[in-house]
Amino acid sequence: MSAFDEVFDFVVVGSGGGSMCAGLFMRSESQRVLILEKTALIGGTTARSGGVMWIPNNPFMKRDGIEDSFESASRYLDSVLGDQKDAPGSSRERRRTYLTEAPRMVEFLGSQGVELTRVAEWPDYYDERPGGSVAGRTVVAELFDANELGAWKDKLRPSFIRAPVPATLEELMELPALKRSWRVKLLLLRLVARKVMARITGKDWVAGGAALQGRMLQAALRTGVEIRTDSPVSRLVVDNGAVTGVVTVKDGRPWRVGARLGVLVNAGGFAHNQRMRDRYQPGISVKWTMAAPGDTGEMIEEMERHGAVLAQMQERVGTQVTLPPGAEDSEAKPTAQGITAAPHAILVDQSGVRYMNEGGSYMAYCKAMLERNKTIPAVPSWAVLDNQYMRNYMLAGTMAGSAKPRRWFDEGYLKKADSIEALARQLNIEPATLRATVDRFNSFVAQNRDDDFHRGARAYDRWLGDPCNKPSETLGSIAQPPFYAVPVLPGDVGTYGGVVTDEHARVLRADGSVIPGLYATGVSTASVMGGAYPGAGSSVGPTFVWGYVAAKHAIERRN
Ligand SMILES: Cc1cc2nc3c(=O)[nH]c(=O)nc-3n(C[C@H](O)[C@H](O)[C@H](O)COP(=O)(O)OP(=O)(O)OC[C@H]3O[C@@H](n4cnc5c(N)ncnc54)[C@H](O)[C@@H]3O)c2cc1C
Repeated sequence: MSAFDEVFDFVVVGSGGGSMCAGLFMRSESQRVLILEKTALIGGTTARSGGVMWIPNNPFMKRDGIEDSFESASRYLDSVLGDQKDAPGSSRERRRTYLTEAPRMVEFLGSQGVELTRVAEWPDYYDERPGGSVAGRTVVAELFDANELGAWKDKLRPSFIRAPVPATLEELMELPALKRSWRVKLLLLRLVARKVMARITGKDWVAGGAALQGRMLQAALRTGVEIRTDSPVSRLVVDNGAVTGVVTVKDGRPWRVGARLGVLVNAGGFAHNQRMRDRYQPGISVKWTMAAPGDTGEMIEEMERHGAVLAQMQERVGTQVTLPPGAEDSEAKPTAQGITAAPHAILVDQSGVRYMNEGGSYMAYCKAMLERNKTIPAVPSWAVLDNQYMRNYMLAGTMAGSAKPRRWFDEGYLKKADSIEALARQLNIEPATLRATVDRFNSFVAQNRDDDFHRGARAYDRWLGDPCNKPSETLGSIAQPPFYAVPVLPGDVGTYGGVVTDEHARVLRADGSVIPGLYATGVSTASVMGGAYPGAGSSVGPTFVWGYVAAKHAIERRN
């Protein structure tokens, strides 16, 4: 039996989405919990994220009179994920457990005082499939006043949502239509009023993942979960094949912590580890990711060292990005999702040909880009835009209609020309090819139907577009000079493969046996979603749910 410096009932490695959820459950059963976070900040990529969780059949849908059921969600998941024989993380048992436990997890958090709600409309990414929901199945945190954390406030990792006015993700997503919608102008007035009130009342509203993890941190601290930052875990302690604790650092020296009921690894993926990327995801640069910096994969390798089997390591939550000069090194990389899904914009490969529905899930978009690249150079691809686009929509963080930085032109990021042919020459594309692509797309706009890729046929594509653009929210001609182009890369918000876990979140060996005492959740694991992304929140949802499931199982095993 190993000697420990300290012993807890349950130890969590990493302060990701599932960590505090598991911690809260353990505390509700009066168990002592320790969360060890490697970095100086709490919350992981989950805090940096939009904080959206995909929770079918959730209590807020019931509250709002939106129909859903286990059966409907199950039909949808099976239709989107298919058999996925090479994705053991997405087994039938795990899908069933996810759909059963996800709404229970949300109820549990509510009982712990974590204030959540739903986004009014965020369609599933394949809403046209059986069981798909147009209203959507998203759960998010209410805005959170970070000042309520007191001295812990500075330890909360900030969200990527940094707006000049305090706003939810849902509100922010409406703002691009500001110039064209009175309703949005009124919304902006409300947000400005909120900012003034916050100043007067001393509130510091945070949104998205920071609101979610801020609320979780508050609840965790209130119930007595112990959380330590700057505490990397380097090793698992294994006795007779069972995980009994971890080795971390305290006061500059190795510190062994025992875990009576188990260790939960919630240490993220390997988004920032170029060696692992090259091995499992060749061709993908760590410079394209938006994951938080602690996402370096060492705990996945440590679990593998103790016999855990890895799967789905090629999967990522792809997100199309466009990187103006200087953006490669910045934390918040501009997404290109809203660009090519908006009217007056298309995506073409380096031969000037369109090759996908520019709406659709970001994961599917990036997969399509990489697949195309196997036969025709498509990394980067080009977003081709016209003056109507530039007048009406944001580009890489700049406002609609605003002058673009001189540097963008000088360094060859933003191309501009008076004709499609001249633009093509700047992109080293055969002018006649780009002309034909644009003419064909414009003919689809005229008939309001995309015969090639059906962009706009599903609710999600239209939701990504511009509600004020008629008759189509997403189809608009590329006809008004000058014409523009920016490069689009298959970035990501994190990796999506890791150790294989069962329906209790226990880590498995290659022969299917359980490694006793070892649980894992989040993107340290092979996702229950396999190689698809069914809806907004398909990463944060699972990290919470499997953290909850792991804690429940550890308690049941104790009894
Ligand atoms: C801008 C952005 C927006 C996004 N929006 C959404 C969204 O709205 N919904 C959604 O589902 N997904 C979203 N994603 C993706 C999602 O945020 C992540 O995939 C998910 O949060 C990963 O959660 P996790 O719990 O697995 O890991 P994380 O939340 O990343 O937590 C892992 C933690 O473990 C720590 N750690 C790592 N190694 C060690 C170690 N050895 N010892 C101790 N600690 C360690 C890390 O520092 C980190 O704090 C978004 C991502 C980004 C970047």
